[in-house]
Amino acid sequence: MSSRSPSQKHSTAAAPQRRLAVEAWPKLVAAVYSAHLTYGTGTPMTLSRRDVLTASALLLAGPAAAARLAARESGGAKPLVLCWNENPYGPSPAARRVVSELIPSGCRYPSDQAIAALVAAIAAHESIGADHIITGTGSGELLRALGLLYGRDGGEIVAAQPSYTELTSYAGHRGARLKFVPLDLSMRHDLPAMRSAVSPATRAVYLCNPNNPTGTALTAAEIRAFVAGLPSGVLTIVDEAYMDFTTAPGVGSVADLVKSGSGVVVLRTFSKIHGMAGLRCGYAIASPEVIKAVDAAVMTTPNIFAVHAARASLGDGAFRAECRRRIVGSRTRITTVLSELKLRYAEPQGNFVFFDTGMPLPRFTELMRARDILVGRHFPPFDSWCRITVGTEPEVAAFLAALRAVLPTARQSSA
Ligand code: PLP
Repeated sequence: MSSRSPSQKHSTAAAPQRRLAVEAWPKLVAAVYSAHLTYGTGTPMTLSRRDVLTASALLLAGPAAAARLAARESGGAKPLVLCWNENPYGPSPAARRVVSELIPSGCRYPSDQAIAALVAAIAAHESIGADHIITGTGSGELLRALGLLYGRDGGEIVAAQPSYTELTSYAGHRGARLKFVPLDLSMRHDLPAMRSAVSPATRAVYLCNPNNPTGTALTAAEIRAFVAGLPSGVLTIVDEAYMDFTTAPGVGSVADLVKSGSGVVVLRTFSKIHGMAGLRCGYAIASPEVIKAVDAAVMTTPNIFAVHAARASLGDGAFRAECRRRIVGSRTRITTVLSELKLRYAEPQGNFVFFDTGMPLPRFTELMRARDILVGRHFPPFDSWCRITVGTEPEVAAFLAALRAVLPTARQSSA
């Protein structure tokens, strides 16, 4: 699939699986519980590489048990939810504190002052004026508003495929003309092809960077050159929901393009690195004119908990750094195992990994479901590829144990 698929660089044979003696189980339980993230609910703990390896080796003893234990570790939730790209470590301690203190105020709307204070905090964080910021009930609401504004009455929108569909689906329902451009062989946005797809009727181009579901990313320089080559009047909408997890050289935010008046909107969310998906808050950075238009199109405002928690979370940089460290570490652990198993994957830059299961996705999904693990949905045309969210360390260990367990079964049954 991908000429640059990183898995092709690795030829390491799969590590032999070891069945552990029954006496190992108490150790397994201890290892899983010692891996429990207490950040926010107790003393922050750091998990050494050795801890992780020990836990995962022990978890190899039995995937079903591993999944059960990981589920217990994540608050008793079962099945393991590795399908929505959530950050399981959130919300931050500061955000949790604010939400619990605010429970009696659940009978109130957020005050204008509280919303203004959040917008001011975001503006300071992004080093831009407050008139360039609008918050939404998740960035999804803002994507929809942009889809409505630029897609209505047959407006043409160019987007990659597969990519995140919130904007394009909503725009499609409002009568937009959608032009989808397939990803390139590395599963990245094909910018030259997207540029060719732009016509005099094009009102907006949507770039999801890093891209959901593939996790691949464009460099900031590539986006800058693309934007510079567009006809004036075409808005570039850059969705940076996963930007905080990127590690590839040259990949970074292009929010500064908003300041230079280049016809760019950047979207960020509190759902990913801030671990607040359930609280619903996101924001857009755009020119004051676009902000006003989006403001007129949004359907609601963030709730009181989201407004205060988002502001508190912005002030908790240590939490974000810790989330990034752990999620990037676990992401590498997943790709290392995929390479061992000789499974191809797209270069991951978000908190998820898109990989080729080597079997029809419905079959893989069913095998994982039988082990109480929920994985990402089908993203055509990648019929055998699966998107898996990077969960906590024990969740990742449980997933990898299940993956190792199902592969021989699937390979035999499809032989
Ligand atoms: N953008 C991308 C690329 C996403 O994957 C998601 C959610 O998964 C969103 C935006 C929307 O996030 P939210 O509405 O929770 O801010």
